[in-house]
Amino acid sequence: MPLKVREQQHVSVFLSGAVQGIGFRPFVFRLAQELGLTGFVRNSTNGVIIEAEGSPQKVAAFLKRIPEEKPPLSFIQNYQYTLLDPIGFSNFVIRESDEGSLKSAVVLPDIAICPQCLAEIFDPQNRRYLYPFTNCTQCGPRFSIVEALPYDRVNTSMKKFRMCPDCAEEYNNPDDRRFHAQPNACPKCGPHLELWDAKGKVIATRREAVSQAVDNIKKGKIAAVKGIGGFHLFADAHNEKSVQLLRKRKHREEKPFALMFPTLKSIEAQCRVSPQERALLLSGESPIVLLIKKRKIGRLKAVANSVAPGNPSLGAMLPYSPLHHILMKELGRAVVATSANLAEEPICADEKEALQRLGGIADVFLVHDRPIVRSIDDSVVRVVMNRPLVIRRARGYAPLPVTVRTEGPSVLAVGGHLKNTVALNVKGNVFICQHIGDLQTEQSLQAFRRAAMNLQGLYATSPAYIACDMHPDYLSTKFAKDSKLPLIKVQHHHAHIVSCMAENRLDGTVLGISWDGTGYGPDGTVWGGEFLKSTLTDYERVAHLKSFMLPGGDKAAMEPRRVAAAILYELAEGDWKEFKDLAPIKSFTSKERKVIKDMMCKKVNAPVTTSMGRLFDAVASLMDIKQVLRFEGQAAMGLEYILEGARTDSAYDYAVDRNPDGGYILNWTTTVQGIIKDVRKKMAAPKISAKFHNTLVEMALDIAKRVGEKRIVLSGGCFQNKYLTERMVRRLNEEGFKPYWHQLVPPNDGGISLGQAVCAINRIK
Ligand code: ZN
Ligand code: ZN
Ligand code: FE
Repeated sequence: MPLKVREQQHVSVFLSGAVQGIGFRPFVFRLAQELGLTGFVRNSTNGVIIEAEGSPQKVAAFLKRIPEEKPPLSFIQNYQYTLLDPIGFSNFVIRESDEGSLKSAVVLPDIAICPQCLAEIFDPQNRRYLYPFTNCTQCGPRFSIVEALPYDRVNTSMKKFRMCPDCAEEYNNPDDRRFHAQPNACPKCGPHLELWDAKGKVIATRREAVSQAVDNIKKGKIAAVKGIGGFHLFADAHNEKSVQLLRKRKHREEKPFALMFPTLKSIEAQCRVSPQERALLLSGESPIVLLIKKRKIGRLKAVANSVAPGNPSLGAMLPYSPLHHILMKELGRAVVATSANLAEEPICADEKEALQRLGGIADVFLVHDRPIVRSIDDSVVRVVMNRPLVIRRARGYAPLPVTVRTEGPSVLAVGGHLKNTVALNVKGNVFICQHIGDLQTEQSLQAFRRAAMNLQGLYATSPAYIACDMHPDYLSTKFAKDSKLPLIKVQHHHAHIVSCMAENRLDGTVLGISWDGTGYGPDGTVWGGEFLKSTLTDYERVAHLKSFMLPGGDKAAMEPRRVAAAILYELAEGDWKEFKDLAPIKSFTSKERKVIKDMMCKKVNAPVTTSMGRLFDAVASLMDIKQVLRFEGQAAMGLEYILEGARTDSAYDYAVDRNPDGGYILNWTTTVQGIIKDVRKKMAAPKISAKFHNTLVEMALDIAKRVGEKRIVLSGGCFQNKYLTERMVRRLNEEGFKPYWHQLVPPNDGGISLGQAVCAINRIK
């Protein structure tokens, strides 16, 4: 899809690693001069910050050439950037570091092993040969081992290990790569591995532990492996039985598993990998990258079907810790590497706890004695509009802050209910904690409380205000109320929009398109297909989806057929006779049909919603893609995934009705009628899905034209959908609007805490 060229682009870059005191700033200066960019470069407490402007081509060249042409002694570990609107700099300068404004020392994320350390662990002559806890100032664990600031060894979980003379010499030598590398260690003085059986009995230690773990995995067993931010469950990805066993034991029926591959080449053998995707896979953040599988893979090369059943994409990552590298080299094949937990619980980080919680899941436990201070999952990223879009923000990204324009007092924002994160504003830096998960279990609730306390402790900040969702039953809301701090409630979909505004550094008024599965509406209905004319403090609901019922309430969220039945109920005024042939109606017994109809007739246990996520579910059900879900979002994902390769610009009809309360209602009646017609004609599913997606884009465009705001902000879980986001951005550009979407902050509820924090800061002001 060709992007309409914009005149000027602004990029905000943060990079860390060995980038200070080695001519890095002069290098950036020269490169910017050569490309004719304006802006500045400066050092901050933990890295280098660049703000640069120029034509999109020049900015792209700049971003590409920095890592390619950096000074020889430098090494970039974190390299994160956000593309923004131009501010209008007059020239390019090197600014003095302004430590004053960034005194709140930023803790860096955990970073993948650097090339130098990697070379050492595979060099038989090196004293760290095959040592799985090798690191240096440029790589290794940080956020996962730090207990307090400042970041010194005594404040990390490495404090119990006394450095041997060799390590101490490195640590104290300013010319050494390990000068003040807080987790510095070697086989003589550092942490060690053990392999345990399911009862916690030691089977093997050190290198022998790795070899035996590898043997077990090759034999089809499941190994729990203690990594950087917690335990993974490893299973041979080429062994169908083994993957199925893992599914059974983990109670995870169909949700795709992430994979760890031994090499980039082994990923490229299975998946299409673009240059941006390759860069992400190889980055210091080392996230799970969502990739499209190749159409033709040799049977021997392909991973087991049950890794990601019926899914055209795979979540792939490369080894990032020395332990993973050593393991993967010996294994020489892809493994399932999934967070060690039961469905939606937080990742397990302590070996004693692991034995208890994973006793029935893992056959062996590869553990070590470096404690994990806070558990951190792998991050998940996909490339959208040729830029990274972070879907789960955890290892490698958290806890880097989002800098906001307004300073204000410190606010703790407790996030939503699903995919929860917590955010804390410290003098204009909003620190967002790692992905915690859904707050349904006692374990995740504990993790949530810990994260909230942790952020405050780490930055020695006690909040003056607390921000939360409007939903009275969210456990996060209850936590906020119990805190006794002045409470600021932020509407869910407004929080989505503000989070996207904050990331793109917008203020003023925008039209926010906030589409997701569910969020509390102040009118007592469940919102989710919202158009909010928004500022950082307030919003006006200018349009929404035509409402429908959710028979069975929460149950409907997991049963698309219920939503489809409700939509059909609206179409036929309570009569399903003419839809007897359709999949959702057929999937119920006549008794179930009666119960569901009763709920809607009597309006009992049938909340009213305007949710876009549920409309996706209904369409998936009408197309018989999914009637009952095995995990949240499965139907919408299914609708997106069958699009792969579909090419059509056609769309269904829709209507825009005047809302008697003001604004507009997007009426999907003719859309759904069109879909039913195509389903009955047996039109190819990819085409129906594409037409449905296209319709939503045209609907949004229609509203945008009526509202008349030029800047359109896209947020909410629906914008994890690559096709929807890319088409929406393209069409908005074509029609002269300025679309904004997420990059480093998730569009899903993982971004809610940021939106709450920023909204609260601005309201207090
Ligand atoms: Zn290193
Ligand atoms: Zn040592
Ligand atoms: Fe949401």
